Amino acid sequence: MARTQLQRARDGELTAAIERVAERENRDPAFVRQQVADGQAVIPNNHDHESLDPMIIGREFATKVNANIGNSEETSDLEGELEKLHTAVHYGADTVMDLSTGANLDDIREANVEHSPVPVGTVPIYEAVKHVDDPADLTQELLLEVIEKQATQGVDYMTIHAGVLMEHLPLTDGRKTGIVSRGGSILAQWIEENGMQNPLYVAFEAICEIFAEHDVTVSLGDGLRPGSLADASDEAQFAELETLGELTRTAWDHGVQVMVEGPGHVPMDQVAENVQRQQAVCDGAPFYVLGPLVTDIAPGYDHITSAIGATEAARAGAAMLCYVTPKEHLGLPEQGDVRDGLAAYRIAAHAGDVATDLPGARDWDDALSEARYEFDWRRQFDLALDPARARSYHDQTLPGDNYKEARFCSMCGVEFCSMRIDQDAREADGEMTEIDDETDLDDSPAAEANLPPVGSHDTSGVPEEIEIDGVTFTPAASHTDD
Ligand code: SF4
Repeated sequence: MARTQLQRARDGELTAAIERVAERENRDPAFVRQQVADGQAVIPNNHDHESLDPMIIGREFATKVNANIGNSEETSDLEGELEKLHTAVHYGADTVMDLSTGANLDDIREANVEHSPVPVGTVPIYEAVKHVDDPADLTQELLLEVIEKQATQGVDYMTIHAGVLMEHLPLTDGRKTGIVSRGGSILAQWIEENGMQNPLYVAFEAICEIFAEHDVTVSLGDGLRPGSLADASDEAQFAELETLGELTRTAWDHGVQVMVEGPGHVPMDQVAENVQRQQAVCDGAPFYVLGPLVTDIAPGYDHITSAIGATEAARAGAAMLCYVTPKEHLGLPEQGDVRDGLAAYRIAAHAGDVATDLPGARDWDDALSEARYEFDWRRQFDLALDPARARSYHDQTLPGDNYKEARFCSMCGVEFCSMRIDQDAREADGEMTEIDDETDLDDSPAAEANLPPVGSHDTSGVPEEIEIDGVTFTPAASHTDD
């Protein structure tokens, strides 16, 4: 039986995936191996995901960003889903989660895995409930069947809400927003109606055996995460976290790679404490956080409310951030929302890496600042997190080619451009002879993992055209223009 990255790392093996990750992050392969062997980092890498370019998730590495894609009963189709995959990878998603709950689940999942160069995650209970009339009719056998099928389809990591226990449910009484996790609410209903323990908890060792066989990373879901500031850091959330710590060690005993999911909605002053608590309870297993949103007041702008919390989480040691789009709480995101959500989260991840002094992270900022001070507009656009948007905003008012070397833009205007005035003054008194533009991103220790994301991922696995059931789709349509 093929072994997991964790088992092989424990045996001292420098796997091809470890070597590739070391190259992408510009780190010593031996260090990467040790982090994986110790459970402090994961390399989601299903044996059957052939188009994958391996990446690593751990607090010692560049902070990663996940984008959720997937359809719902109400909207989206296969073509739209493949376009979302392409958009997500193009704008820098390090992983994608296919959270489809509508039609064609197997076709969409298989197409995503086949064409995705980044790890694909799922939440198998979403499919399982589609096979029964009532969530209370779910059985352990059905759950295992769906999990095994998705593992054989090449899914790299799966969210398993095994930490929602019968004894935790009374702790959610009195919450302002109850149980907001989809998986958590389904399991709570199942437990209440059947009067039995969570079947995912009961079957967790059997799940681990499936995961070990295919090298699926388990992402321990936080089914009792707070859905509002009022419910943050409550007894139910932390009781579940204790169970997630126990399950982390069980999975490690089976040689399964583990990460742990976290909240949700958390006031700014509690974010770092939440990260530190998870790291302590789960023995340093990578923390994968959704946001968190630091205020509940801004539907329509929750990519911003959550990116603020995500920045603080990354600074405190979170390893991966699950993006939130402006559509959060309001509707299924479309391509433009995916782009805006990813931009917000790439910023949060990078700001966190700069704050924790990740080797080389600041080089990107320095290179862009140098281009800005030199009025090298083309280089400034190229270095921008979203080059097409930066160029488009500049060119709205000064589209001409001659303005690409201009010593001003339309923000302050030619007369009041402070950088021009500053440079002229320094040149006049002889203080400034040459602008320092020595930052060389090609030599940056941050390497691929933390450089301008647009185009930095290998998108060769995302095809120009794809044919499914005799129908041709074009998922690789250009997303470079505003
Ligand atoms: S005009 Fe203002 S915003 Fe534009 S380059 Fe000069 S200082 Fe910067």
